[in-house]
Amino acid sequence: MRLHWHRRDLRLADNRGLADAPERPIGLFVFDDDVLTHAGTPRVAFMLDALEALREAYRARGSELLVRRGDPAAVVPETAVGYDAEIVSWNRDYSGLARERDDRVREALDTTDTTPQQFHDAICHEPGSITTNAGDPYSVYTYFWKKWRDREKDDPRSVPTLAETAREDEPVPSLSALGFDEPDADVPAAGPDAARRLLDSFLESEVCRYEEARDYPAQECTSRLSPHLKFGTIGIREVDARVRELLDETAGERRESVESFRSQLAWREFYAHVLYFNPEVVAANYKTYPNPIEWENDETLLGAWKRGETGYPIVDAGMRQLREEAFMHNRVRMIVASFLTKDLLIDWRRGYAHFREFLVDHDTANDNGGWQWAASTGTDAQPYFRIFNPMTQGERYDPDAEYIKTYVPELGDTDPAVIHTWHERTPIERANAAPDYPEPIVEHSERRERALEMFERARDGD
Ligand code: FAD
Repeated sequence: MRLHWHRRDLRLADNRGLADAPERPIGLFVFDDDVLTHAGTPRVAFMLDALEALREAYRARGSELLVRRGDPAAVVPETAVGYDAEIVSWNRDYSGLARERDDRVREALDTTDTTPQQFHDAICHEPGSITTNAGDPYSVYTYFWKKWRDREKDDPRSVPTLAETAREDEPVPSLSALGFDEPDADVPAAGPDAARRLLDSFLESEVCRYEEARDYPAQECTSRLSPHLKFGTIGIREVDARVRELLDETAGERRESVESFRSQLAWREFYAHVLYFNPEVVAANYKTYPNPIEWENDETLLGAWKRGETGYPIVDAGMRQLREEAFMHNRVRMIVASFLTKDLLIDWRRGYAHFREFLVDHDTANDNGGWQWAASTGTDAQPYFRIFNPMTQGERYDPDAEYIKTYVPELGDTDPAVIHTWHERTPIERANAAPDYPEPIVEHSERRERALEMFERARDGD
């Protein structure tokens, strides 16, 4: 018998660890307190929902998902021995901390009669399999994407036959049993059925306008698959196979749109590779400057950013969407991240920590990649002198202020033209137009100059 330790693969289908080993598996999930310490409530809520669905799927096949809590290096071997498992399998996780944990589990299993087996599952192409011609990992996405796109992909695996075993009495723990309050945000439904519904409806309609509409948050035309891909409630081979099928049937602009969506899946893999080869980027700049970047880290400004009270409408809408939905549209993530680092001069790590707490889809590789890109410290980073203007970004990507009004009710009756020129209005005009909406907390053009000086000092010294 085999024990399969689920981590970021909370599904049975298209699961290489489950399907690629011959022995019949039962499942195990371990709540690791070290991981829970850094987990935000929305993510834990989503994960519990996904675990319930996974356990049901095991039980429907006469098997069981065992649920435990503790240090995996103790719990995994103990459970394996208790169930007389000959093999413990798991799918690889690519962050530095996860790899250290997995090494400890492997060492602990060496003291038992159980053999560990690791599989490659979370992304289509394993780190190290897509490299420059010199064999180095890519630091520029565009070249990575071309190779990723053309590389043959494995087919999704079907659900294997599971080992029969008795049910456990212990339920999947509740949020409160794990020390979390109920989330304030509306957390999306988890589990493979929910993921497949999203994928089906996205591929039936929105994907065809993805290319032209994906940057416009009010259009809501993206897939919302990110929490599912993060927790593996749907397999990446299944998603990619469905997208390729559609590509084969589609031509012209529609085809370009489908391809554009597929290229986003490759960003996810690019950042997983970057993290694998550079585990230190979770806390350090990927791109270093000769001198330290002297972030100002003003706590009052940080507080206003977190609350969505900066007086920059598109920024505030994004930060409030995050609290309400545990999600933020990609374009707006870029805007709020640029605003935090280049207007407020606050270290990207502070923004990353906030996203990690509130995003349901927080993923170390993607979140880190996104933040470092915006802060001009990442791979493929925008150069430090390219600074988003939050007002023109709002005007371009939310011209009718539809998205802004959804999340900033104080501006509900305000003319979009006023909203997009909020920073240029006099305090009296602002008070008349939307008395409850904050004054801008900084002046963009002045902060822009300061940001340029900050980066120039980092580049050249005083
Ligand atoms: P879609 O547009 O439908 O894209 C499909 C999938 O492709 C996504 O679900 C995601 O898995 C992947 N993807 C799309 N864009 C990116 C990207 N730029 N980088 C990496 N993968 C991408 N994404 C996360 O999954 N988790 C994060 O914690 C995260 N943090 C981010 C922080 C910042 C500052 C920025 C700028 C971006 C971040 N992203 C993150 C990337 C992106 O914003 C989200 O993946 C996307 O908004 C999720 O919505 P969707 O599923 O509807 O995306």
